[in-house]
Amino acid sequence: MILASPYQQSVAEYWNREKDPVNIRLGDVDGTYHHHYGIGAVDPSVLEGPEETREQRVIAEMHRLETAQATFLIDNLGEVPTSGRVLDAGCGRGGTSFMAHERFGCGVDGVTISESQVAFATEQAERRGVAERVRFHLTNMLDTGFETGAYQAVWNNESTMYVNLDDLFAEHSRLLARGGRYVTITGCYNDTYGLPSRAVSEINARYICSVHARGSYLRSMLAHRLVPISVVDLTAATIPYWELRATSSVATGIEDSFLTAYRDGSFQYLLIAADRV
Ligand code: SAH
Repeated sequence: MILASPYQQSVAEYWNREKDPVNIRLGDVDGTYHHHYGIGAVDPSVLEGPEETREQRVIAEMHRLETAQATFLIDNLGEVPTSGRVLDAGCGRGGTSFMAHERFGCGVDGVTISESQVAFATEQAERRGVAERVRFHLTNMLDTGFETGAYQAVWNNESTMYVNLDDLFAEHSRLLARGGRYVTITGCYNDTYGLPSRAVSEINARYICSVHARGSYLRSMLAHRLVPISVVDLTAATIPYWELRATSSVATGIEDSFLTAYRDGSFQYLLIAADRV
């Protein structure tokens, strides 16, 4: 069974229905569709220049920052041979999967519990002529049924907040070859302050997710033979993206919750990379 609970049913329904301009219009810029946030400085020239074309410049700039986020994740995967295989766990419309294939030429499996995302990403793979090498599956990442030890790298790009971490890392650990690399980029709450702040709770309600504590990631990885080799705090690097998005035509209304939570220190945007031992 792909959807193992009423909870997963509601997550799948959310993503099956999702047609948010903040995702579609940005993806239309160059045909790579992301469902994650951006990092890096905003080019100030975007806000200058003719008013009539300002909106298009802002959209293109937000897309550039989201692509920079995926590039940074892929930079942390290490070297993957052309003959290797990698897994994009919670792949959305496939943006990071295609970028990883372009970088390494390796085989990519993307999994999502949304049928409409599988259809969209598969159509993209055909259009790009890579359907043999980049495949999308309607599959639960907690229980993929894929071959044990077959993957050189596995990542979650903003998809860990939909699952129990121990279940997730047990499955990743099974799929990864020894010496393989795991990478996640995720928002997590800062457990220095106890439980999630009000702004983090607003994010959870908006996306039907449950942001985990920073410490839970590290404890759960270690418990599943995934030894962290780097933790990069991207909080300061993602704030300019949110500031730009808050003033854009594609703002969804959640921007203030993210900005409040990042600024008051209760929420952090992290990259964590780990080696499978
Ligand atoms: N990684 C993508 C999409 C992030 S959005 C990107 O960066 O663009 C979160 C994704 O997680 C959605 O595609 C959703 O369907 C997927 N997801 C949530 N729970 C899942 C589960 N149990 N198994 C597989 N995918 C899941």
